[in-house]
Amino acid sequence: MRLADATWTDADAADTDLAVLPVGSTEQHGPHAPLGTDHFTAQAVAEAGAEAYETDADTATDDVVVAPPVTVGVSEEHRQFTGTLWVSPDTFRSTVRDVVGSLASHGWDRVVVVNGHGGNVAALGEVCATIARHDDAYAVPFTWFDAVGDHSADMGHAGPLETAFLRHTDPDLVREDRVEDAAAGASDGWGDWTSHANLAVDVVEFSENGVVGDPRDGDAERGEALLDLAADSLVALLDAVETRDTSLPPHE
Ligand SMILES: [Zn+2]
Repeated sequence: MRLADATWTDADAADTDLAVLPVGSTEQHGPHAPLGTDHFTAQAVAEAGAEAYETDADTATDDVVVAPPVTVGVSEEHRQFTGTLWVSPDTFRSTVRDVVGSLASHGWDRVVVVNGHGGNVAALGEVCATIARHDDAYAVPFTWFDAVGDHSADMGHAGPLETAFLRHTDPDLVREDRVEDAAAGASDGWGDWTSHANLAVDVVEFSENGVVGDPRDGDAERGEALLDLAADSLVALLDAVETRDTSLPPHE
Protein backbone atom coordinates (compact mmCIF):
# COMPACT_ATOMS: atom_id res chain seq x y z
CA MET A 1 0.00 0.00 0.00
CA ARG A 2 1.48 3.27 -1.15
CA LEU A 3 0.87 5.53 1.83
CA ALA A 4 0.92 8.82 -0.08
CA ASP A 5 -1.88 7.64 -2.38
CA ALA A 6 -4.00 6.04 0.36
CA THR A 7 -6.59 7.80 2.50
CA TRP A 8 -6.28 7.70 6.27
CA THR A 9 -9.18 5.28 6.34
CA ASP A 10 -7.35 2.97 3.92
CA ALA A 11 -4.29 3.21 6.13
CA ASP A 12 -6.39 2.49 9.19
CA ALA A 13 -7.66 -0.70 7.56
CA ALA A 14 -4.18 -2.00 6.68
CA ASP A 15 -3.57 -5.23 8.55
CA THR A 16 0.19 -5.37 8.94
CA ASP A 17 3.16 -4.42 11.06
CA LEU A 18 5.50 -4.20 8.03
CA ALA A 19 6.60 -1.00 6.31
CA VAL A 20 9.27 0.01 3.85
CA LEU A 21 10.78 3.49 3.91
CA PRO A 22 12.71 4.54 0.78
CA VAL A 23 15.61 6.92 1.38
CA GLY A 24 17.80 8.48 -1.27
CA SER A 25 19.24 11.84 -2.17
CA THR A 26 19.00 14.78 -4.51
CA GLU A 27 22.49 15.04 -5.98
CA GLN A 28 24.34 15.25 -9.25
CA HIS A 29 24.34 12.14 -11.42
CA GLY A 30 26.52 13.38 -14.24
CA PRO A 31 25.32 15.29 -17.30
CA HIS A 32 23.00 12.48 -18.42
CA ALA A 33 21.01 11.31 -15.36
CA PRO A 34 18.65 13.21 -13.04
CA LEU A 35 19.42 14.69 -9.63
CA GLY A 36 16.66 12.53 -8.15
CA THR A 37 18.20 9.22 -9.28
CA ASP A 38 18.87 7.86 -5.79
CA HIS A 39 15.37 8.41 -4.45
CA PHE A 40 13.77 7.28 -7.72
CA THR A 41 15.65 3.97 -7.57
CA ALA A 42 14.99 3.47 -3.84
CA GLN A 43 11.28 4.08 -4.33
CA ALA A 44 11.10 1.73 -7.34
CA VAL A 45 12.81 -1.08 -5.40
CA ALA A 46 10.63 -0.47 -2.33
CA GLU A 47 7.43 -0.58 -4.38
CA ALA A 48 8.47 -3.62 -6.44
CA GLY A 49 9.55 -5.52 -3.33
CA ALA A 50 6.39 -4.66 -1.41
CA GLU A 51 4.18 -5.64 -4.34
CA ALA A 52 6.02 -8.94 -4.80
CA TYR A 53 5.73 -9.65 -1.08
CA GLU A 54 2.01 -8.93 -1.15
CA THR A 55 1.43 -11.29 -4.10
CA ASP A 56 3.88 -14.04 -3.09
CA ALA A 57 2.07 -17.33 -2.42
CA ASP A 58 3.59 -17.72 1.05
CA THR A 59 2.94 -14.17 2.24
CA ALA A 60 -0.09 -13.21 0.15
CA THR A 61 -2.27 -12.17 3.07
CA ASP A 62 0.21 -9.58 4.31
CA ASP A 63 0.11 -5.88 3.41
CA VAL A 64 3.25 -3.79 3.31
CA VAL A 65 3.02 -0.05 3.88
CA VAL A 66 5.24 1.86 1.45
CA ALA A 67 6.13 5.20 3.05
CA PRO A 68 6.93 8.24 0.88
CA PRO A 69 10.67 8.64 0.23
CA VAL A 70 13.14 10.75 2.16
CA THR A 71 14.51 12.64 -0.85
CA VAL A 72 17.48 14.55 0.60
CA GLY A 73 20.35 12.64 2.17
CA VAL A 74 24.00 12.76 3.18
CA SER A 75 25.42 14.12 -0.08
CA GLU A 76 27.75 16.97 0.75
CA GLU A 77 30.53 15.21 -1.19
CA HIS A 78 28.70 16.29 -4.38
CA ARG A 79 28.29 19.95 -3.33
CA GLN A 80 30.31 21.52 -6.17
CA PHE A 81 27.82 20.19 -8.74
CA THR A 82 24.82 22.50 -9.08
CA GLY A 83 21.50 21.28 -7.79
CA THR A 84 22.92 18.92 -5.19
CA LEU A 85 21.14 19.20 -1.83
CA TRP A 86 22.26 17.71 1.44
CA VAL A 87 21.55 17.39 5.13
CA SER A 88 24.03 16.60 7.88
CA PRO A 89 24.31 13.00 9.11
CA ASP A 90 22.70 14.18 12.39
CA THR A 91 19.68 15.56 10.55
CA PHE A 92 19.40 12.46 8.40
CA ARG A 93 19.51 10.15 11.41
CA SER A 94 16.91 12.30 13.21
CA THR A 95 14.61 12.34 10.19
CA VAL A 96 14.75 8.57 9.71
CA ARG A 97 14.25 7.98 13.44
CA ASP A 98 11.22 10.29 13.60
CA VAL A 99 9.62 8.89 10.43
CA VAL A 100 10.09 5.31 11.66
CA GLY A 101 8.65 6.41 15.01
CA SER A 102 5.55 7.80 13.34
CA LEU A 103 5.12 4.64 11.25
CA ALA A 104 5.43 2.60 14.45
CA SER A 105 2.81 4.73 16.21
CA HIS A 106 0.25 3.32 13.75
CA GLY A 107 1.38 -0.25 14.39
CA TRP A 108 3.79 -0.52 11.44
CA ASP A 109 6.75 -1.11 13.70
CA ARG A 110 8.90 -3.47 11.59
CA VAL A 111 10.52 -1.24 9.00
CA VAL A 112 12.97 -1.95 6.21
CA VAL A 113 14.69 1.27 5.15
CA VAL A 114 15.37 0.88 1.41
CA ASN A 115 18.37 3.00 0.54
CA GLY A 116 19.57 4.23 -2.87
CA HIS A 117 22.59 6.36 -1.89
CA GLY A 118 26.03 5.22 -0.75
CA GLY A 119 26.59 8.36 1.33
CA ASN A 120 23.63 7.42 3.54
CA VAL A 121 24.97 3.99 4.47
CA ALA A 122 26.94 4.83 7.63
CA ALA A 123 24.32 7.12 9.18
CA LEU A 124 21.53 4.72 8.24
CA GLY A 125 23.22 1.76 9.90
CA GLU A 126 23.73 3.81 13.06
CA VAL A 127 20.15 5.06 13.29
CA CYS A 128 18.62 1.64 12.61
CA ALA A 129 20.65 0.18 15.49
CA THR A 130 19.56 3.05 17.74
CA ILE A 131 15.90 2.46 16.84
CA ALA A 132 16.15 -1.28 17.48
CA ARG A 133 17.87 -0.74 20.83
CA HIS A 134 15.95 2.20 22.24
CA ASP A 135 12.63 2.76 20.43
CA ASP A 136 9.37 0.83 20.17
CA ALA A 137 10.24 -0.28 16.65
CA TYR A 138 12.63 -2.47 14.70
CA ALA A 139 14.38 -1.02 11.64
CA VAL A 140 16.89 -2.59 9.31
CA PRO A 141 18.84 -0.91 6.49
CA PHE A 142 18.80 -2.34 2.95
CA THR A 143 20.92 -0.74 0.22
CA TRP A 144 19.61 -2.06 -3.10
CA PHE A 145 22.86 -1.99 -5.08
CA ASP A 146 24.54 -4.24 -2.50
CA ALA A 147 21.82 -6.84 -3.16
CA VAL A 148 22.17 -7.45 -6.91
CA GLY A 149 24.73 -10.27 -7.02
CA ASP A 150 27.76 -9.84 -9.27
CA HIS A 151 26.40 -6.55 -10.63
CA SER A 152 27.24 -4.84 -7.33
CA ALA A 153 30.94 -4.65 -8.25
CA ASP A 154 30.08 -2.26 -11.14
CA MET A 155 28.20 0.28 -9.01
CA GLY A 156 30.27 3.46 -9.52
CA HIS A 157 28.18 6.65 -9.59
CA ALA A 158 25.74 7.47 -12.39
CA GLY A 159 27.61 4.61 -14.07
CA PRO A 160 26.41 1.33 -15.56
CA LEU A 161 24.01 0.24 -12.80
CA GLU A 162 22.11 3.45 -12.13
CA THR A 163 21.93 4.32 -15.83
CA ALA A 164 20.65 0.83 -16.65
CA PHE A 165 18.11 1.00 -13.84
CA LEU A 166 16.68 4.31 -15.10
CA ARG A 167 16.68 3.11 -18.71
CA HIS A 168 14.29 0.43 -17.50
CA THR A 169 12.12 2.41 -15.06
CA ASP A 170 12.30 6.03 -16.28
CA PRO A 171 13.84 6.04 -19.79
CA ASP A 172 12.72 9.61 -20.52
CA LEU A 173 14.94 10.86 -17.68
CA VAL A 174 18.18 9.55 -19.25
CA ARG A 175 19.64 12.10 -21.66
CA GLU A 176 20.89 9.60 -24.24
CA ASP A 177 22.52 12.32 -26.37
CA ARG A 178 24.87 13.12 -23.47
CA VAL A 179 25.92 9.59 -22.54
CA GLU A 180 29.11 9.69 -24.69
CA ASP A 181 30.17 12.90 -22.91
CA ALA A 182 29.26 11.37 -19.58
CA ALA A 183 31.57 8.43 -20.31
CA ALA A 184 34.39 10.69 -21.56
CA GLY A 185 34.46 12.76 -18.35
CA ALA A 186 34.03 9.85 -15.94
CA SER A 187 36.58 8.36 -13.59
CA ASP A 188 37.22 4.63 -13.41
CA GLY A 189 36.91 4.35 -9.65
CA TRP A 190 35.65 6.11 -6.52
CA GLY A 191 38.17 8.20 -4.59
CA ASP A 192 41.90 8.93 -4.66
CA TRP A 193 43.64 6.17 -2.77
CA THR A 194 47.03 5.81 -1.08
CA SER A 195 47.82 3.14 1.53
CA HIS A 196 44.14 2.13 1.73
CA ALA A 197 43.20 5.72 2.61
CA ASN A 198 40.97 7.85 0.43
CA LEU A 199 42.62 11.28 0.21
CA ALA A 200 39.67 12.87 -1.60
CA VAL A 201 36.93 14.60 0.37
CA ASP A 202 34.67 15.61 -2.53
CA VAL A 203 33.78 13.85 -5.77
CA VAL A 204 35.01 16.78 -7.88
CA GLU A 205 38.58 15.84 -6.85
CA PHE A 206 38.48 12.59 -8.83
CA SER A 207 35.70 12.96 -11.41
CA GLU A 208 35.51 15.84 -13.87
CA ASN A 209 31.74 15.56 -14.51
CA GLY A 210 30.66 13.60 -11.44
CA VAL A 211 30.39 10.19 -13.14
CA VAL A 212 32.22 7.08 -11.91
CA GLY A 213 32.12 4.05 -14.21
CA ASP A 214 30.89 3.77 -17.79
CA PRO A 215 27.17 4.53 -18.25
CA ARG A 216 27.29 2.87 -21.70
CA ASP A 217 27.58 -0.52 -19.97
CA GLY A 218 24.02 -0.50 -18.68
CA ASP A 219 21.11 -1.17 -21.05
CA ALA A 220 17.43 -1.39 -20.10
CA GLU A 221 17.57 -5.19 -20.01
CA ARG A 222 20.28 -5.00 -17.36
CA GLY A 223 18.14 -2.47 -15.50
CA GLU A 224 15.21 -4.88 -15.45
CA ALA A 225 17.47 -7.60 -14.06
CA LEU A 226 18.73 -5.22 -11.36
CA LEU A 227 15.21 -4.30 -10.28
CA ASP A 228 14.18 -7.96 -10.18
CA LEU A 229 17.24 -8.98 -8.15
CA ALA A 230 16.82 -6.13 -5.68
CA ALA A 231 13.09 -6.78 -5.30
CA ASP A 232 13.68 -10.50 -4.71
CA SER A 233 16.26 -9.67 -2.04
CA LEU A 234 13.83 -7.28 -0.41
CA VAL A 235 11.06 -9.92 -0.35
CA ALA A 236 13.38 -12.34 1.46
CA LEU A 237 14.35 -9.60 3.90
CA LEU A 238 10.74 -8.62 4.59
CA ASP A 239 9.97 -12.24 5.31
CA ALA A 240 12.88 -12.44 7.76
CA VAL A 241 11.91 -9.15 9.43
CA GLU A 242 8.27 -10.25 9.76
CA THR A 243 9.16 -13.52 11.49
CA ARG A 244 12.12 -12.36 13.58
CA ASP A 245 12.03 -12.26 17.38
CA THR A 246 13.13 -8.62 17.76
CA SER A 247 13.29 -8.58 21.54
CA LEU A 248 16.80 -7.89 22.81
CA PRO A 249 18.31 -9.04 26.10
CA PRO A 250 18.40 -6.17 28.61
CA HIS A 251 21.88 -4.83 29.33
CA GLU A 252 23.12 -4.80 32.91
ZN1 LIG B 1 23.19 7.50 -7.17
